[in-house]
Amino acid sequence: MQKIRNIAIIAHVDHGKTTLVDKMLLAGQLFRENQNSGELILDNNDLERERGITILSKNVSIRYKDYKINIIDTPGHADFGGEVERVLNMADGCLLLVDAFEGPMPQTRFVLQKAIQMGLKPIVVINKVDKPNCRPDEVQEMVFDLMFSLDATEDQLDFPTIYGSAKQNWMSTDWKNRTEDITPLLDAIIENIPEPAYLEGTPQLLITSLDYSSYVGRIAIGRVHRGELHEGQDVALCKKDGSISKQRIKELHIFEGLGRTKVKSAQSGEICALIGIEGFEIGDTIADIQNPEPLKRIAIDEPTMSMTFTNNDSPFFGKDGKFVTSRHIAERLEKELDRNLALRVEKAPEDGVWTVYGRGVLHLSILIETMRREGYELQ
Ligand code: GDP
Repeated sequence: MQKIRNIAIIAHVDHGKTTLVDKMLLAGQLFRENQNSGELILDNNDLERERGITILSKNVSIRYKDYKINIIDTPGHADFGGEVERVLNMADGCLLLVDAFEGPMPQTRFVLQKAIQMGLKPIVVINKVDKPNCRPDEVQEMVFDLMFSLDATEDQLDFPTIYGSAKQNWMSTDWKNRTEDITPLLDAIIENIPEPAYLEGTPQLLITSLDYSSYVGRIAIGRVHRGELHEGQDVALCKKDGSISKQRIKELHIFEGLGRTKVKSAQSGEICALIGIEGFEIGDTIADIQNPEPLKRIAIDEPTMSMTFTNNDSPFFGKDGKFVTSRHIAERLEKELDRNLALRVEKAPEDGVWTVYGRGVLHLSILIETMRREGYELQ
């Protein structure tokens, strides 16, 4: 049976998450020659890169010794609370990455708090100890105080701390003792992050994320909670309204490096992608066909602000975009609801008017800017 570690990575913007994940991929020797290691891998959405935040969480995976380490990216901002809970749901532990000079930042507090509440075991990585003005020991104490204030359990407070420089490709248990590579971090993950519990029984998987492919359509992603799933298996899709439909898993993939590989089966604890499931939503359960038992849906933080969206009826109509009608906007908002969990859209009584509820200014402005770049006009 495959030995697995599922770990979420939590970091403030610029503290070095992308650099570290690059180095982890490199260590897993899954880094292909043609991929420039100077390039950002996790943040590949233009807007995310400009604003320096990660919105759409992506999974990557590396092999180290006999283990497969699934690395789960988390968004670095509280506006994306809807995304945070569902991605943390796939992990058994978390890496808190902190800059050795700046220390923990208020923005990461929210995500860390969720991780602590969900019982994830933390490993703290104090990065950039190569910088001349760094203060790793002080930062370590700041992290401890932060975890304490977040009501971490004794076991969580007993977190290991790894120091190093992602940029220089080394990690160590002692920041004054530079090593050759990042294996001390990988070893710490294997030793400290619990193995996912193997739950016996009929299969259950909570759909926590999705992907699109122009060939196969929507792909459901989640962690096998209980039992085992197989390629070609008939399963039940349990939806929010209580309805259950019969589906077939056409293909089953697990994450490998930056991509995925096709497998025959996946067991409790593994994170996988299911091809062939139709009409699902995030939060639905894939379950046994004979005896379907849905899992509890993930609670999502409620929106905190709203804006009114209408089509552009100004004299500048049609000058900027190609999708200008209210039908275009309606369809686009509908599509966004599929992925953007913390978003709500209500049709206003007037024609062509929608009230869009989000988690904050950043959350809504990212949607508006994305729509603008895609060629939509709106007011
Ligand atoms: P992210 O926003 O957390 O993904 O951060 P990045 O990985 O993009 O890194 C932000 C900046 O910090 C980049 O300019 C990196 O080259 C730099 N950086 C990352 N790790 C280190 C490190 O260990 N030492 C130093 N000096 N710089 C680093």
